Formats: sequence, C-alpha cells, structure tokens
Amino acid sequence: MILSHRIFLLHILLLGVWSCQTEKADQSKKIDSILSKKDSVIIIEQPIISEVEQRMIEQGLVDIQSLDSTIMVDLKYSTTDNFVKTDVYGDLTLAYMQVKPAQMLVKANKVLQEKYPNYRLLVYDAARPLNVQHTLWNLLDSIPPQKREDFVANPTIASIHNFGSAVDLTVYDLINKKPLDMGTIFDFFGDLAYPRLENEMLKEGKLSEEQVANRIVLREAMTSVGFMQIETEWWHFNAISRVRAKSLYRIVE
Ligand SMILES: [Zn+2]
Repeated sequence: MILSHRIFLLHILLLGVWSCQTEKADQSKKIDSILSKKDSVIIIEQPIISEVEQRMIEQGLVDIQSLDSTIMVDLKYSTTDNFVKTDVYGDLTLAYMQVKPAQMLVKANKVLQEKYPNYRLLVYDAARPLNVQHTLWNLLDSIPPQKREDFVANPTIASIHNFGSAVDLTVYDLINKKPLDMGTIFDFFGDLAYPRLENEMLKEGKLSEEQVANRIVLREAMTSVGFMQIETEWWHFNAISRVRAKSLYRIVE
C-alpha cells in the first residue's frame, strides 16, 4: 500500500516535470518565432500626450519643438520656479502655439542663429490654458483685483497667451551654458523689466549696457519676423493683436 502510494506520487512528480519542460519548450518556440520575425517588427514609440496637450492639438496648436528642435523650452509654470512658486501646469511641459505664430518663432530662431551661431531662443511660456489663468489670478487673491492686473492678465479678459499667440522667452548662450543676462529674471514685476524705461534705467545705472544690448539681441530677432513687444515685460512678445487673435482662434481651455 505504501509502495504503490509512493509510485503514484513519483508518477505525479514526473508528469509535473514533463509538463513544466513542455511548457518551457513551447515558450522557447514562441520566443524563437518572435525572434525570427524580428526584422518585420516595427517598434513605434508613442510619446504620452497629456489631456491638456490633446485639447490644444485638437484646436490646431502645434508643439513648437516639432517644427524646430533647436528652440529650447523650459516652461516656468510647469516648475515651482515662478512668481507664484507653484507648478500650475502639471502635465503640460511642452510649448504649444497656433501654427502661424509658431512658424514666426521658427523664423526668429533662424534669424538669431544666423547672426549668433551659439545663441538659441529659450521659451519660458507659450500657449496658456484659460483655467491656468484663473489659477494664477486666484493665487494672487491677497492683492486687490485692479493692482493684480499688473502681475497677471484678468481671466475674464483673457491674455494673448490664452489664444496661443504670445510667447515669453529669452536668449540662451550655448557656449556659457546659461541664458543671457537681461537685467532681471523672467516675471520680474517692476520698472527694471520695462522696455520703455530702459534708457532711464541705463542712465541711473540700474541696468548695464550689456544687459540692454542683450535685450536688443532678443528684440531684434523677434520683431524682424513680425512679433510685437510690449512696454512692460522684456520677455513677452505677441504674434498678433488681441482683437486679431480673438477673431482667428478659440481660447485654449
Ligand atoms: Zn507673456
């Protein structure tokens, strides 16, 4: 009885080993067949596109680096290195613009590189979803609304950024591996950032000749292709007016 029981157990054990080996053999056959088809397999790596980017693509906006990979992008609102010290962009890390403004930016980058081969445009902000405009507005709720407009556009009026037609940027020096010194950081709110006060700031010694010259490098590249500067931020350029943007494009939600 004990012997027959042992034989029965051995039988089960052998069957187990056999089935396990058969399984492995089957698996290796499968691997072989996959390997033999290796040449015909095309692996497509699809980038993960966030919901907000998907919405922008559906509205016709383009990732500017897909048009010119030499344009550098560091979206400050997708980091905590911004004036509200909060990452308000989350998944949005790429710079999107409407097609025509994006093509203008590509031209500006070319103009810059032709004159200064080691310089590149470095984008800090481009298309900005309207809900982020609300977030920025609400984060500054300690400032009265009228004064708040000095820092961020009122979301009820919308910014040209919300139409994917404005860009905030600087010039990056590939040799020194840093952006040019423009006299203030991006999103510095005050006289020192105002292009219209540059001569005054220069005379008062608050801006150096080199800092003003650096701003002119950026401004010349941008305005030579049709971008318009504004009076209060050296980093901000509009591709078209707000009225034209409103007539041509929908707000990025
Ligand atoms: Zn701006």
